Amino acid sequence: MSVRRTRFVFVTGGVLSGIGKGVVSASIAKLFQFRGYSVDMVKIDPYLNVDPGTLNPIEHGEVFVCEHVWKFEPARGFSFNIAEVDQDFGTYERFLDVNMHPSNNITSGQVFLSVILRERLGEYLGKTIQVIPHITDEVKRRLLSVAARGKPDVLVVEVGGTVGDIEAMPYLEAIRQLRLEMPGRTALVHVTLVPYLETVGQQKTKPTQHSVRALQSMGLQPDVIIGRSKDRLSDEARRKISLYCSVPLEAVISDPNLDVVYELPLVFEEQGLGRYLTELLGLSRAGAESKLLSEWRRVVDLYKYPRDEVVVAMPGKYTMIYDSYISINEALRHAAAHLGLGVRIRYIDSSKFEEDPGLMDEELSRVDCILLTPGFGSRGVEGMIDAARYALENDKVFLGICFGAQLLFVAFCRYVLGLKSAHTTEVNPSTPHPVVDLLPEQKRVEMKGGTMRLGAHKVHLKHGTRLYEAYGTSTIWERFRHRYHIIGRYVEKALEKGLVVSATDESGRIVNAIEVSQCRWVVGVQFHPEFKSRASRPSPVYRAFMESAYECKMLRKRAAKL
Ligand code: GLN
Repeated sequence: MSVRRTRFVFVTGGVLSGIGKGVVSASIAKLFQFRGYSVDMVKIDPYLNVDPGTLNPIEHGEVFVCEHVWKFEPARGFSFNIAEVDQDFGTYERFLDVNMHPSNNITSGQVFLSVILRERLGEYLGKTIQVIPHITDEVKRRLLSVAARGKPDVLVVEVGGTVGDIEAMPYLEAIRQLRLEMPGRTALVHVTLVPYLETVGQQKTKPTQHSVRALQSMGLQPDVIIGRSKDRLSDEARRKISLYCSVPLEAVISDPNLDVVYELPLVFEEQGLGRYLTELLGLSRAGAESKLLSEWRRVVDLYKYPRDEVVVAMPGKYTMIYDSYISINEALRHAAAHLGLGVRIRYIDSSKFEEDPGLMDEELSRVDCILLTPGFGSRGVEGMIDAARYALENDKVFLGICFGAQLLFVAFCRYVLGLKSAHTTEVNPSTPHPVVDLLPEQKRVEMKGGTMRLGAHKVHLKHGTRLYEAYGTSTIWERFRHRYHIIGRYVEKALEKGLVVSATDESGRIVNAIEVSQCRWVVGVQFHPEFKSRASRPSPVYRAFMESAYECKMLRKRAAKL
């Protein structure tokens, strides 16, 4: 494999998980983009799932969907489709505006499956299969094959979990070997928590020292230490980290709390991290290009200084953690920011509407618009359908995403067409009006992992619709992740009552988006436009949604004044 040019930056985590290692990794890659270098990202997930597609979003955050579907062939004669990856890839794409390939997400499930199946095929005849060298060799092969595919100047590799986790050991060992095999071409960045102890009024570096010890005990000496803390690191904390962890003072970097995450690359740049890493890796362009830097600064300012805000209600099932809907949250922010606005999202557990119908009016009348979320299964679904009904009956600006679009159609059939028991067969398999049902090709599918309709597909937009107006073109590519779809037979009846099919698949037969002609802006899309929204380039649908919501807000304000 020819990867002679590619430099590798490995990013490990210490002390705690959830301290924003994904944002740090993306920001590091951005520093290289500021210098005109091409970048790609790998995320290593030490869990045994083959991909995160079957993981519950409450347990693991959102599942991100790539543009392409990868045919993963762990061994001769075996193959699995993979397009579902860790949510960190969303962060990477939003920061870098580069589409990531699904094979850039390396899981222990994939690595072990490959080695074990190859053993059965006889590829290691006579040998005892062991973590070292067989698992570590497979990890190295996977890393090098990502570099060989895209030939980036720099490949940033984020190792999931924290140093010291049993599951992460083989990866750290593989990284140790790669560093030995590629002298001068790798850097190791360790991201750790530096807590502030109120009682003594100090930032404490001991947890950092311990986690660096753990790294060193595996033969890994970090080149850079990034300290995650509420405020910037004090000089004293930096000096201690430098001395006790054997890292030059200039390579101890602050990662303070920020209101706008997209500012982190600028905060790193200002501390000299871009120059430090570039020189360490023997790359010649040590200084950032001022044009690229100021372009990003302009983007960040859009988020920092909104002139007004839009309030979005998100009735749904998973309302526990921000991460369950991170791409949607960010897509709303991108769209709003590019209109000079901020967003306030009100997460509403839709099962509450089922218990107390009066609550819905109270909650939804106060917001500027409603977004109905993607989802699976039946919890909270009646409340979500009621929210769609509310939008239809009160002409509220509304966007339904995937499941949200399907439930909009259910509400339309129930309350506009009068088919009282209309439903999706996902929730009620014996409904007399199955207005949403399995895609034809899904009827025979039994395995759950990687078998949905996934990845980007071509979508045809109908001229004169709100969706067409948003995109300004008749063919687009958007990403999908579903098994069910809106049934054409019922659509025909709905057309007479004002429903509009604004997008279909290539054949023209599968409905990809609907809208309601008598409403100001009620749109449901079967695809997930949030996966293609970028900090610097919002998704057209989200932008149109935010624009309509803001117009509505202004109209209401004016009406209230009269
Ligand atoms: N559960 C629905 C389906 O499989 C919707 C999925 C989604 O919202 N991503 O079609």
